[in-house]
Parts: sequence; structure tokens; C-alpha cells
Amino acid sequence: MTTALPPLSALENATEFQPRHIGIDAADEAHMLSVIGEASRRALIDGIVPRSIARSQPMDLPAATTEAGALAELKAIAGKNQLLKSFIGQGYYGTHTPGVILRNILENPAWYTAYTPYQAEISQGRMEALVNFQTMVCDLTAMPIANASMLDEATAAAEAMTLAKRSVKSKSNRFIVAGDAHPQTIEVIQTRAEPLGIEVVLANSLAEWNDALDGDYFAVLAQYPATSGRIDELAADAEKAHARGAAFIAAADLLALTLITPPGEWGADIVVGTTQRFGMPMGAGGPHAAFMACRDEYKRSLPGRLVGVSVDVHGKPAYRLALQTREQHIRREKATSNICTAQVLPAVIASMYAVYHGPEGLTRIARRVAAYTAILAQGLKALGAPLREHPTFDTLSLHTGAATETTAARAVSMGANLRIYFKEYLCISLDETTTRADVELLWKIFAQDGQTLPTFADYAEAGVEALIPAALQRSSAFLTHPVFNTHHSETGMLRYIRQLSDKDLALDRSMIPLGSCTMKLNATSEMIPITWPEFAHVHPFAPADQLQGYAELDEQLRAWLCQATGYAGISLQPNAGSQGEYAGLLAIRGWHRARGQGHRNICLIPSSAHGTNPASAQMAGMQVVVTACDASGNVDLADLKAKCEQHADKLACVMITYPSTHGVFETQVKELCQLVHQHGGRVYVDGANMNALVGVAAPGEFGGDVSHLNLHKTFCIPHGGGGPGVGPVCVVEDLVPYLPGHATAGVPGGNGAVSAAPLGNAAVLPISWMYIRMMGADGLQAATETAILSANYISARLKDHYPTLYASANGHVAHECILDLRAFKETSGVMAEDVAKRLIDYGFHAPTLSFPVPNTLMVEPTESETLAELDRFIDAMIAIREEIRQIESGTWPQNDNPLKNAPHTAESLLGADWARAYSRETAAFPVTALRQAKYWSPVGRVDNVYGDRNLFCSCVPVSELAS
Ligand SMILES: *Cc1c(COP(=O)(O)O)cnc(C)c1O
Repeated sequence: MTTALPPLSALENATEFQPRHIGIDAADEAHMLSVIGEASRRALIDGIVPRSIARSQPMDLPAATTEAGALAELKAIAGKNQLLKSFIGQGYYGTHTPGVILRNILENPAWYTAYTPYQAEISQGRMEALVNFQTMVCDLTAMPIANASMLDEATAAAEAMTLAKRSVKSKSNRFIVAGDAHPQTIEVIQTRAEPLGIEVVLANSLAEWNDALDGDYFAVLAQYPATSGRIDELAADAEKAHARGAAFIAAADLLALTLITPPGEWGADIVVGTTQRFGMPMGAGGPHAAFMACRDEYKRSLPGRLVGVSVDVHGKPAYRLALQTREQHIRREKATSNICTAQVLPAVIASMYAVYHGPEGLTRIARRVAAYTAILAQGLKALGAPLREHPTFDTLSLHTGAATETTAARAVSMGANLRIYFKEYLCISLDETTTRADVELLWKIFAQDGQTLPTFADYAEAGVEALIPAALQRSSAFLTHPVFNTHHSETGMLRYIRQLSDKDLALDRSMIPLGSCTMKLNATSEMIPITWPEFAHVHPFAPADQLQGYAELDEQLRAWLCQATGYAGISLQPNAGSQGEYAGLLAIRGWHRARGQGHRNICLIPSSAHGTNPASAQMAGMQVVVTACDASGNVDLADLKAKCEQHADKLACVMITYPSTHGVFETQVKELCQLVHQHGGRVYVDGANMNALVGVAAPGEFGGDVSHLNLHKTFCIPHGGGGPGVGPVCVVEDLVPYLPGHATAGVPGGNGAVSAAPLGNAAVLPISWMYIRMMGADGLQAATETAILSANYISARLKDHYPTLYASANGHVAHECILDLRAFKETSGVMAEDVAKRLIDYGFHAPTLSFPVPNTLMVEPTESETLAELDRFIDAMIAIREEIRQIESGTWPQNDNPLKNAPHTAESLLGADWARAYSRETAAFPVTALRQAKYWSPVGRVDNVYGDRNLFCSCVPVSELAS
């Protein structure tokens, strides 16, 4: 007897990933449609997405494949990268990620799926790690204050330039840059300076440097140690700058600073750099956390996020993001910077590297690098190699003249990449991963035929002196706080990491329904490739023929994203959405200028826009004119028309978000685009809401000229607790020549570099590649439609409890909905923030609070949540509405109820006295399911005002923690 098998096609399920990614199945969908009152998903979508913008054709993407299939295919692509030993340096070094950090942070969803810590109470773990980061940077640089990460060293240097411009007395427009700074830093500074009218003066020799310092300028920047390795004494130069009312900026190497005098001790005003070599693989350029530290006087002007210590309602120390955090949303075009998504996960890793090694471990690592460098130098000298002698930490430079190219080629043939510097020099940088055999290999590269090779042991036995003269050596202590001196065993480290992540709510515990942020599944199979050595351990400036795997990844991903957006050209270089906006606006600016229309500098932005939009416009040298929204939340076309006419001669562009930040597909978007085009402007469509569009409508087809995507929203790169992100900039055909290039990496392009590395945060691109490859065109469209279905289901189920503020004519929303809580202030004193905090007691991260409308909650469920989780959230919201009713009816006073006192900590509930108007049960277990699974907030409500008045941004002294 034989058993009949089903046809093979049913067994070989190439689309098996889709139901893993999309949490809603056919039965769920039928139920949800019945609640919404629609007959089918098709009917629902047709009633929401305006017919005029529907895609003309489906996306042309490869058919979906399985998780295993996609991994195998990507492995083959990765294999096209060549892993040579890198001695290139230039800001990127080999590093050993401690295994305990690799597995328990970089590969751990408790860390990588967390959101930016806007909700302080559920983010105490990652904020402690970020305070450790800030303390580490302050200690190593000897500066009083540091922020919680910058996007990369080059953009940090550019931000330092504008921080100095805002802060110094000098009214000069000139910025001096030492010619021996990292070339990618110089390039990004030049890109940033141009639209702002800042003149960059490159000092390419000591004479030019000295001349420049005697001239007129508002700030100077020097690399410390220089890109060629040389360490200069810069105290006198800093003094010169100060005498002119100018600032001195140092771009410094943190590992070197364990051994050499820190910039804060010789007069630097701002210090920037990267923390890459503290445990983050080179990853072809990113993601890594850069840093910025500055004088105390500049702190309120510091860009990026700053974590500060405040107190909670019980008077205990608690962390929260300090004042400038949501600065763009408050100050708009007057914001100091457009940075929103930063590099939180890499910053956490760098801080943990310092926690794990401690001051002694870091010093030992640095001393070993310095010793190997000194030994390498001795051997090279013995071989007669043309070594340039100067103080150095880890980098040697050789004047190889005409032999430069051939020596570099010889090195490659022997498995090593050296750096060619100014055509006639070779630089060699050592790092934590350099071995004795590596040093011997380097000697071999430089040995002439027949020369006897030195051996490492010869020099090791004789003893070595570092190439750092006494006058340049560091004498001050650093990392003295107990956190850097406690967790040095692996057991201790493991438990510290676990203790911190246990304090936080990330996607691995519950839905994070944040409107505009698209907190969807970050599938494990998408994450696996990022730590493959073929992707992780390549240098961004390795010879192009060694980076073929990345080149193919770049090409395929761009082609697929062109399909998804309808655009003609894309650059993956911007390393956050904000940077994509900036690059896109530069493209528009470049296009106008090329046509002799350089005076066009007006950027129209609707009042509902995300704060990064006006901040980016300002950075691109544009003047922002705000346009109104009408009563139903749409861009007010009459006002837009009036402003187009008023500014017709100077109109550069309009920046809209689609579907709008109000969660609605505006029906007249095509007309809007035409209107702007008629007046000579271009249309920027902010792509943060692409999760409502992929496969359904394409901005490049319906009238957009430029968009940025947020791969860390729509395309599954996890938020990492606030970064890394990738913000590709996408443009129509005639703007392609104005996409970012990268001269340092030999990539041609109109506007120069916007990131330190040509592919920006290259190492996380495999995540989005995997997602698209496993979903295929149908899967991506189903994801979009399900995201829209889920948002409408929530809106429909909550309509009698919390009205949805904006909807289209048929009452439907897009992929998110704004719940209107404004009436409760009058009836009960309850604010949206109270509901947000009460949701913590129910085990949820709050929706987006008060954006884009004050005192509302914007909910975006995404396609990845199951119906059960959507219902759990809805039930929590309904239960909270009942609690509000008890305040409205007077059962609970307005100032003593479970909402105002939320979140409730275990400690506050277990105290001897309980004098509240409601029971402890009501506080902790308002719904019975919480008795099975309960998240306890580690702190009570955090006092923001106290923290901003008493700004303190380093590790809390132990004495204070104990009290
Ligand atoms: C998230 C977001 C941005 C900024 O992106 P980042 O990656 O955080 O810089 C811009 N616009 C909108 C509408 C967003 O939601």
C-alpha cells in the first residue's frame, strides 16, 4: 500500500517566510474586516489608497525564497568580499568584539529591538549603558560633557564645526582644517560647509597651518593623532585659537587617549571621534558610534542625544533624555542639528567594551598596540625602509616615492592591505588584532631580495619603548567609576548585561505601537548575516576589487528599492533618515544651481511635518516657509498655492510626508505635486511612512522628485534602542547626478560625501536585503495591506472609547491612527502622557506621544503583530478608558488615581503603608492576564524638569545610589 503525498509544489513552500513576518492569517483577516465593515482586503485598500496614485504595475522583484534559501544566496554574495589583513587605519581598525558582548548585545533582541528611550521608565537599562558611554568619553577625552553618540566621525566633525560657529565670539566665516585629518572627515566637512557659506581652509603643511592660525577664523580642527600617525603637541595652537575668540576642535582616537595627553588637558574646546575600535567590527564603514564632547558652556547647544540623571517620583535617581532630545520638534528650523536616529546599539557595545576591560584592560590593549608599532618600526629601520620618524601610537608612515604602488600591490599579493597616502607614502596602522606573525609579514613586504628578516622575538626580548615621548604621555586617571572596575569576569559581565536589559521593554516582550516609527519584526534570519566575517571584517577603503560582495549587495538592494519607490536612482550612503533628507535637499539645491537658479532657496513645509524636515532644510542652506493644514488634517492646498505664488521666484521645493503624519492618504497629492512643479519647485516626499505604500503606490510615480527611506522602519533594520539606521536617498532621473558621491573612496558624484564611508552603515544592509528577498513582491504588498488593515481594526475597535482624530471621507485611516485624548483634560485632568505611563503597568510601550498633535497618541501596529496582541493592546486601552471614567465620575480624585501615579513600581506597592484611593491590585493587575506575565517598571515616573535644571550626564556616584 502506498501513501499519496501532496504535490511537491505544496511541499516546497518558497513563501514560507511571509506568514512568519505577517502576524495576521486568513481567519484573523476575515474577523478584522467584519469589525471594520469591509467585505475584503481588496475593497478596504481600494477605499483607502486614492485610485489616482495606485501603482501602474506590480514591483519587479525576484520571487520570494525561503529563509535558508536567502541565507545561502547572500552567503555566496558575501563570499565575493575578500578578507585581507587590514593595516589601512584611517579611522577603521580591527577589534575583538568580546564574545559575551557579541552574543548578548549585538545578537540579542532585548537590545537590538528596543526603541529610542523617549519613554524613560521602560528604558533605564539602555540609558544606564549610554550614561556609561558618556562617562567613558568624558574620562578619555578629559572633557566635562559628552553626548550619547553621533552618526560617524566625519559627520561629528562637521557638527562640531557648526557647534563652534554657534558658540564662539569670533564672527569670522572661516574654518581651518589640518590637512592631515582623515580625508573622509575633510570631505564631509566641505560638503556641510558649502551651503552654510562657511569657507574651509585646508592647511596642508606646517607653514600653512601656522599662517592660518595667525589669520582670521572661528574654529580649527586637527586630527589627534594625525591620519599619518604623527602626534603633535597642540596646546600652543589651542591658545592661539582662544586668543582670537575661536574654538579648537580635536578629532581624537579613544584608544590612543589611554596613553597620550587627552585634548581636554591641552585646551581643546570640542572633541569628536569614533568608538569603532571599542568592539564594533569595521563592517565596511558602519555602523559605529561616533562621539562628541565639549566645554560645559556649549552643553545646551550640543547636537544629538544626551542622557541625564534625574529623579523619579519617589526621589530615586533615574535616567532620562535631557532637554535637547526632541529639540528638532520644538525648535524646528532653528534646531542645532537634524540628528534623530543616532547610533545607540554601537554606543552600548563600545561602553560595554570599556566596562568589560576597565581602565587597566584598555591600557594594556593600547600598550600592546604601541609596543608592536615600535617593534615594527625598529625592524623596518633595520631593513632600511624609508620610515618617517615622529611620535606615534599605532601608525607608521613611509616615504616610498615611486615604489608606493608596487609595494602596496606586493602587500596585497601577500594578504595585507596598506594605505596609500598622497601617492608617495604608505601608512601602516596596527590594532588589537595584530599578531606577531603580522608584524613579521610586514617586514617581509618591505624587505629587499636577499635581506635577512628580523624576527619578532629578537626585539621582544630586547625590550621596547613606545614611540610616545614623555611630554605627550598621559598621566591622569580615567574610568575610575566602579562600573568600569567591577564586571571583568565573564559571569559578572553576562549578569550586568542581563540586569540592564531586564529593565527595558523591547519588541521581544510586547508590541511597540509607535506611530511614524514602524516597529515591525526584525527577523532572526535577517540579522544573522551581519556578523558574518565576510561582511563584518572588511575595511571601507579596501581596494574595490576586494569589496565585490558589498558592491553586489549595494546594486541589488538599490534596484529593489527603485522598484518599491518608483525612483530612478538611489544612494545608500546616508546613515539615518535625517541624513537622507539632507542629501535629498542637497540634490535639489545642486539641480537648481546647475540651471542657473541657485537663488531658489525657499522650502515649503506643512506645519504637521516631522521636526527633522525643517532642521535638514536649514542645513542645506534653505529658508523654511511653513504652510497650514486644514481642519481634517490635510495640507491646506489653498495656502500652499498662495505660498507657491508668493515665492514663485525663489521656490526650491516642498517637503511633504505621504501618507501624511496625520495617518491619512490625502487624495489631492498629485495636484499638490503639479502645483509645486508649475512654480519651478521640486517635491520632496518624506518616506518614513513607506510602510503604507510599498507595493501599493510609489512616490516616484505620483509626483515626488526625491524621497528618503528609513530602512530601520519600513525595511526591518531594528531600531537598536535609537540607531543605527539607514536613510537611502532616492531621486528621479534628472536628479541622479546630484546624489552623494565619495571622492575619498573614489566614488564619483555631484555633491560630495555626506557620510564617512561610501556605503554609510554598510554592515546592516544585509538585513533589508534578506527581508525583500524572502518576501518578494506579493509578500511586501501583503505586508503593506495588512499594516493598513491592522491600523483600521484598532481605530474601529477603539472608536467608542478614543475617537480617531483624522480619517479619510469614508472614515478609514492609513497604516496608523491618531487617538484623540484631548477632551480628558477637561473631564478628568488626564493627559495623553498619563495614559502612556499607565500602559506601562499593562505591559506596553506607549504609542507615539504628542506628535504630530499635542496630547494625542499615534498608534501604528504594523503587519507583524498577531490579532491576539492587537486585542491585548485594545483591551488595555479600553480598560484605561474605564479608569478615566472613574475619575470623571469622582470615584478617584484627579490627583490620586492609577493614571497619575503610573507607572507603579513593585517597591512602591510593597511598602508598609498604602494610602491611595485605589487598591494595590488595581495598580498592578488591572487585567487578569497580568498575573501570568507582568513587566515591572524599575522606576516611578521620572521628573524631567528636575533633570533639566540639574543637568548631570555621567555615572551616578555610588554614594548617591545607596541613599
Ligand atoms: C523617523 C522619521 C524621520 C527621521 O528619521 P531618522 O532616521 O530618525 O533620522 C523623518 N521623518 C519622519 C516622518 C519620521 O518618522
